[in-house]
Amino acid sequence: MQNITVPDYYSKFNCIGPTCEDTCCSGWWNVSIDKETFQKYQASAQPELAPLFKLAVSKNTLPSANEKNNYGMMTMKVDGECHFLQKDKLCAIHKFMGAQALSDTCRIYPRYLNQFGSQRERSLGISCPEAARLILLNPDPIQFSSISPDPVFDAKPFTSYRFPLKSEGDPQQILVLNDFRAVIITVLQFREISLGARVMLLGFLLDDVNQIISDENFANASELLPTLESYVSMLTHPEQIEAQFEKIESSIPRKLNMAAQLITQSLSKASNRYKECLEAALQGLEANNDPSDMLIHYAKSYSDFYLPFFKEKDYIFENYLVNQVFTRLFPFTRGSYLDLYRELVCNLSVLQVLLVGIAAKNKELNDELVTQLFQTFARNSNHNSGHFDKLITSLHTNAQDSFVHIMWMLKETSEEEISV
Ligand code: SF4
Repeated sequence: MQNITVPDYYSKFNCIGPTCEDTCCSGWWNVSIDKETFQKYQASAQPELAPLFKLAVSKNTLPSANEKNNYGMMTMKVDGECHFLQKDKLCAIHKFMGAQALSDTCRIYPRYLNQFGSQRERSLGISCPEAARLILLNPDPIQFSSISPDPVFDAKPFTSYRFPLKSEGDPQQILVLNDFRAVIITVLQFREISLGARVMLLGFLLDDVNQIISDENFANASELLPTLESYVSMLTHPEQIEAQFEKIESSIPRKLNMAAQLITQSLSKASNRYKECLEAALQGLEANNDPSDMLIHYAKSYSDFYLPFFKEKDYIFENYLVNQVFTRLFPFTRGSYLDLYRELVCNLSVLQVLLVGIAAKNKELNDELVTQLFQTFARNSNHNSGHFDKLITSLHTNAQDSFVHIMWMLKETSEEEISV
C-alpha cells in the first residue's frame, strides 16, 4: 500500500477521551452506518448493547441511502448525546465490541481521509477541540510529509473527499493540479504580507485559473503552468501586493451586520459551547443597540484587545485557512471556485468579527477563547449550515458577483469608518 501524505500536526494527535471538553459523542452528529456494521449491530446479543442498538440504530429510508456509506443511521438522544456514551465519557460499543466494531464515522473522526488522484491524504478537522489546538496554535507554517499506511484507517476504502470523482485521472494533469494546490498554500503561508493581502491574492489566482479552464479551447492542465509561475514570481514584490490590498474599500458596518445576522439566526440551535461564544460576541459588541454604537465598540475592542493579540498570532488564521484548503481538497470539490472563495472569505470575516466581540466582552483574547470559537464554529456549521448558507447566498444576489466584489470582507478596519 502506498504512503499517505499528512500535515505535520497529524501524528501528534491523540483523542483525550474522558477529559474532552466537547466530546464528539454529543452534538447531534449525523452518524451514518454502512450495511456490514448495521447488520453486525442488529445481530448483537451483547446484553448491554442489544437494547440500545434496537433503540438508536435504524435503517436509513432516504432515497440517497446506499450500502457502502449510509445504509443505517444512529439516532441521538433529545439533548444531542449519543445513546452509547457512558457516564465515564467512553463509548460502550468500543468498550464491549472493540474499536473495529465502530462505524466509519466514529472510527475515523476527527480525521479526513482524502484521495487526490492516486495520492491518499489524511488530516484533522478543527471541530475536535484537541485537533483544533494542535492545528491552530502552532506558530510554524504547516508542513507536509509522508507516512506509512495505518491498518485502522487505511484498511477500509473510506474516503471523505475525492478528486477526480470517478477515477484517479490522468497522472500528468493531476500533477499540475497538485502544483496549483501547492501554490495556493504557498500564497496563504507567505508571511511577508498581511493575511488579508494573501487571501486577496488567492482570489486573483482562482479567478485567473477559472478563466483559463472555462475557455472553450482549454484542453490540458499544463496550460495553467505559466499562470502558476507568475503568481510565485509576484511574491518577490510583497510591497506591490500589499499596496493593491490597501486600495480595497472596506465596509465595517456591512461586516457587523452580517455577523449580527448570523448570531441571531444561529443562537437557538447552537450547542452550549458555541452559544457561549455567540453570546459573548453579542454582549461585547452590544449588537442589540444602535448600529453606530456597535461600530464604536468594534473599533475600541479591535485596537485594545484584538490587534495586540493577533499581531503576534496571525498564524492562527493562516493555519485555519491552510487546513481548510488541505482537508477539503480546495478548490476541487463542492462547487465553483467563486462559491468556494466566497465561503472561505465569509467564514474568515465572520470569525474575525466574532473574535472582536468576544475580546470586548472578556477584555482580552487568549488561546483558549480563540480556539473555542474556531472549534465550535466548525462543529456547529456542520450540523446547522442552513443559516450560514443563506447568509452566503445573500452576498451574491446582487449584479456584481465576482472575486473582486467579495474582497471588501477581507478588510478589518478603515480609519474613516471607525474614527467615530
Ligand atoms: S472531540 Fe476529539 S478529543 Fe474529543 S472525544 Fe472526540 S476525537 Fe476525542
